[in-house]
Amino acid sequence: MKRSISLLLVLFLLLVWSELAAQDRAKNVILFLGDAGGIPTLNAASIYGYSKPHQLFVQKMPHIGLSETSSVSQWVTDSAAGMTAIVTGHKTHNGVISQSDAAVRRLKDGAPLKTILEYAEERGLSTGVVSNSSAASATPAACYAHVNDRRKEGEIFAQILEPRFGDGIDFVLGAGHQRILEEMRKLGLDPEVAIKGKGYTFAKSLQAVPSDSRRVVVLFDSGNFDLGAATQRAIDVLSRNPKGFFLMVESDLHTDNIVQGLERAVAFDRIIQQTAQRMKSDTLILFTADHSYDLRIHAGKKNEPLLSAPEKATATNDQDSIRFANVRRDDDHTGEEVIVAAQGPGAERVRGFLANTEVFHIMMSAVGWK
Ligand SMILES: [Zn+2]
Repeated sequence: MKRSISLLLVLFLLLVWSELAAQDRAKNVILFLGDAGGIPTLNAASIYGYSKPHQLFVQKMPHIGLSETSSVSQWVTDSAAGMTAIVTGHKTHNGVISQSDAAVRRLKDGAPLKTILEYAEERGLSTGVVSNSSAASATPAACYAHVNDRRKEGEIFAQILEPRFGDGIDFVLGAGHQRILEEMRKLGLDPEVAIKGKGYTFAKSLQAVPSDSRRVVVLFDSGNFDLGAATQRAIDVLSRNPKGFFLMVESDLHTDNIVQGLERAVAFDRIIQQTAQRMKSDTLILFTADHSYDLRIHAGKKNEPLLSAPEKATATNDQDSIRFANVRRDDDHTGEEVIVAAQGPGAERVRGFLANTEVFHIMMSAVGWK
């Protein structure tokens, strides 16, 4: 009798322990990727949007670290190598999408690097990417495809139809409608037939997607759609899976057009805040950038708008450099650290200076997969 009571007690304690351990784990992971959204852009976006520093939600998240962004061979990364590091934990060469550094851009494949999205598919979670760049461009592509050159957009998108794990990505939404379809046709595919043949609702707008669709491909002509509505819709679809989901949302924050870049940065930050308010404590929410960008506030008075006279912007001798009254930019990526900001289970590992590859390991251990 005594023995069976103590056995029951041990079983009960084990149950409590495993329940507590599970509560510490993230069920869902949402990765917000500000493409080229480095510290200078966040700094300028807060001042542009709110006339004060540190007003962005991502600047107030509970856990913040600084990620270096180099690729395997260069100090300054492009989006392909930058995102590969974040979603696979391995650095590769610029231009290469989720293949090992044995790849030679355009010429030779490297080994496919398994992505966090593929780990999620393998375990039966739902997965998605949302982007206001092309849905086949480097950042979303690095989540679901493996190619030796980011320009191979037809090949990239066709890999959605031949997943390596699970039933493949469930929710794909982005720009690039015309080019993706053209590039797929060049490979001898009928995109419409091929995409629908894999069970996807294929549409050009969110309104055209039936509310009960579980697998969705939406391709817009341009990136100027409501990214917030798209993000919430992706969560609606993916969160039906009781096992959880992985979602990557990208906003293109390159400030080659300064006004557009800063407005997008402010808008993206609001989307992250809305999402953080919506999701329960079982979701790891991260914001980071694949690389920084050469934008700087070089002057300005605190009681005046940051971009007081954008119409007076004049190019300097270097055609790629633009100097506004208070802000200048050089049309290039830069090599300094970007922030990683996080909340939810596993977010406490985001601190100090870290490598971009560490973001992958932080996500993997948050969901308990390593
Ligand atoms: Zn980028």
